[in-house]
Amino acid sequence: MTKIFLDPGHGGQDPGATGHGLREKDIVLTISRFAREYLEANYPGVSVKMSRTDDRYVSLSQRASDANRWGADVFASIHINAAVSTANGYEDFIFNGNVSNDTHQLQNAIHNKLSPFFPTNRGKKRANFAVLRQTNMPAVLTESGFITNKRDADFLRKTSNLKKLGQAHAKGIADFLGLDKKASVNKKEVKYMDPSSPALRKDFEEKLIRAVRRGIIDNSHVEQYKNGTLEQSNAIALTMLILSQEPSTQVYDAHKEAWEKAEQKGIMNGERPNHPLTRSEFATVANRVGLLD
Ligand SMILES: [Zn+2]
Repeated sequence: MTKIFLDPGHGGQDPGATGHGLREKDIVLTISRFAREYLEANYPGVSVKMSRTDDRYVSLSQRASDANRWGADVFASIHINAAVSTANGYEDFIFNGNVSNDTHQLQNAIHNKLSPFFPTNRGKKRANFAVLRQTNMPAVLTESGFITNKRDADFLRKTSNLKKLGQAHAKGIADFLGLDKKASVNKKEVKYMDPSSPALRKDFEEKLIRAVRRGIIDNSHVEQYKNGTLEQSNAIALTMLILSQEPSTQVYDAHKEAWEKAEQKGIMNGERPNHPLTRSEFATVANRVGLLD
């Protein structure tokens, strides 16, 4: 089980940055929910925990210690920036003290997914933030745009964009962890037997019914065919089976003249030209030609 800890910044009495009618605490919660949803939907063996799942205050130390106690493999703190109105774009942070190579890899993976959403890439940065300093696992803090910038705020106002940002966080984390997407379920496309003309339909049904009478197949396939639920693949298999059991009705040229005469004289009834003759049938034929009188 791979454990991913998502940390939507601020919450409760701490709104985080505000601007253009938006609050950081709301935006980052929405982004985090979308990230969790994407991770859980697309990667097997992943467990996601959030520092908060609603609008409540959680201290910075609490966020870090929750992730540490849970034994998270990755920590991602999700924020929105604020500054003068002209400042805009994306940046992210890792701890500015000693960090593992994995921490750099995590920052790279997240940065590659998030930065393309913003016209300005402010770069991969380092800072002494509490959640980065106090967490034991690779940890990153993202700042997805400036709530104080008109263009960034307009972008963050749309839920569809927050979904993209959430999914980008998820994809970056998945890249870092080397998670494989769930194999898309290969749904078998079922096609049903549906002959194109009434004549073909009737002929096929008659063949099926005859095969039932002869004990080659059971009646369930006829019922399926009648109500349109006989699968094509089964229809093909049934046809092969019936054909293999069905004696040929073809009369070879060398036998044709005699066969037709025998039918005309009533010695043979014109059916089953290639069937072997049984002893009782031979007696019947002998009787018909007067050998027994
Ligand atoms: Zn913040």
